[in-house]
Amino acid sequence: MAENCIFCKIANGEIPAATLYEDEDFRVILDLNPAALGHALILPKAHAANLFELPDETAAKALVLAKKISGKLKDGLHADGLNVVQNNGEAAGQTVFHFHMHLIPRYADDTVDVKWKPGTLTDADREKILNLF
Ligand code: 5GP
Ligand code: ZN
Repeated sequence: MAENCIFCKIANGEIPAATLYEDEDFRVILDLNPAALGHALILPKAHAANLFELPDETAAKALVLAKKISGKLKDGLHADGLNVVQNNGEAAGQTVFHFHMHLIPRYADDTVDVKWKPGTLTDADREKILNLF
């Protein structure tokens, strides 16, 4: 556990939260300020600030868990779709620096905004990025 990390405290049961699922590695809770009905957060119990710090084994389990919980939310709440959102770093919108995945059920008439303005992939940008790999 990291000191003064709210999600460490929630994930490990020190601070109560509405829990949808728990196992030895994860707790899944309802977001306190949901974007839409059923907005849930997957929290690993072991602290990692972001995806870059997350152990491979936890990362692999997290996506399997996201699939399982997302299906239950979508079916149970009769959602029309669902976004999996995961922010890393302040520039990317992360506000709590303990890795988490947002599961956001989507409804045809909802007001959730997960959008960006499409840009243009230039030849120079494409080459710069391809050269990294
Ligand atoms: P981020 O912006 O870091 O990707 O997402 C943080 C999320 O955590 C936000 O959606 C916010 O509403 C939620 N959140 C922050 N503090 C608490 C809390 O104490 N309890 C719960 N259940 N959710 C929280
Ligand atoms: Zn933490």
